[in-house]
Amino acid sequence: MNSVLDLARPEIRALRPYEHAAWQPALERLHANELPWRALGDHSDAGLNRYPEPQPQALIERLAALYGVAKERVLLGRGSDEAIDLLVRAFCRAGQDAVLVCPPTFGMYAVAARIQGAQVESVPLLRARGFALDVDALLARCAPQVKLVFLCSPNNPTGNLLDRAAVLHIARSLAQRAIVVVDEAYLDFAAAPGVSDALEELPNLAVLRTLSKAHGMAGARVGALLAHPQIVTLLRKIIPPYALAQLTIEAALRALEAPQLATMRTRVAQIIAERERLATGLRATRAVSQLWPSDANFLLAEFHDADAALARAAAAGLLVRDCRKGFGLERSLRITVGTPEQNERLLAALT
Ligand SMILES: *Cc1c(COP(=O)(O)O)cnc(C)c1O
Repeated sequence: MNSVLDLARPEIRALRPYEHAAWQPALERLHANELPWRALGDHSDAGLNRYPEPQPQALIERLAALYGVAKERVLLGRGSDEAIDLLVRAFCRAGQDAVLVCPPTFGMYAVAARIQGAQVESVPLLRARGFALDVDALLARCAPQVKLVFLCSPNNPTGNLLDRAAVLHIARSLAQRAIVVVDEAYLDFAAAPGVSDALEELPNLAVLRTLSKAHGMAGARVGALLAHPQIVTLLRKIIPPYALAQLTIEAALRALEAPQLATMRTRVAQIIAERERLATGLRATRAVSQLWPSDANFLLAEFHDADAALARAAAAGLLVRDCRKGFGLERSLRITVGTPEQNERLLAALT
């Protein structure tokens, strides 16, 4: 094997992508059948009458700088959900290939695989060890059909960081056998570094980041895949031509200016402080039988009576996530850290 692309579907490697209208901002656009005037009420910077720049370079450069990787390693998508979908479609042949997930974890990995017709192999996290990776079992389950291994750190819904050395050991062990995708959607709330710095060493490593959580931009839909340049080029062939809307690009660029980043960091610190206060409060209530430590902006709690807890929260006007269908989470609810007032109200309702 010579390159990570050998793991991809041959028909995607061979695909000639759709050729969208050339991006040549120095010239006036009479090549894309757009209207030359803006619609009334269009206050965007570039004009919504124009198709947006595919994979906008300014945004790629800002995210590359933020995440400390070369810009050739960044693919932008509509949230990291789109990157998950693109990876599965590019690497898994329907009816033949598989992805591996470690439940309880984010549901999109398995859903994207099933949509594509790929098998889903499950190697549960070890609850008795605080939902740590079962490294040996995982490596033993990586048959040749397994093309993608999805790891989530900090993990949703359990909140814990995965051990960095274990993640890198898995990626090294699966070199030339599978792509190891580390979803770092909540890393901004964690007290440890992620694995992006290992991307140069490990061509089969991919990292997912998003503006949806810490940056408060879930409504804009911006996520990034950080990966080997050949993977980025491959996925650019199958992403819809103008995936990111112009309003989204402009909003994301603004969210990444220095003052907004400073505000983001202040707010993350505030959420972390609230998380610890909420955790202390929840541990003190009799309704909660177990509370897991969290490196994210949510807490996973086990309740003696989860139905009663849901009803009490709802009566206080608050919606929390019912996780009882999750693997091994029969009495668990996931609580997003809110404003101090919301957290206080929730604690009052549950106590
Ligand atoms: C919220 C979340 C995401 C983010 O998805 P976007 O599509 O970027 O909004 C990704 N992974 C996990 C585990 C999440 O919980």
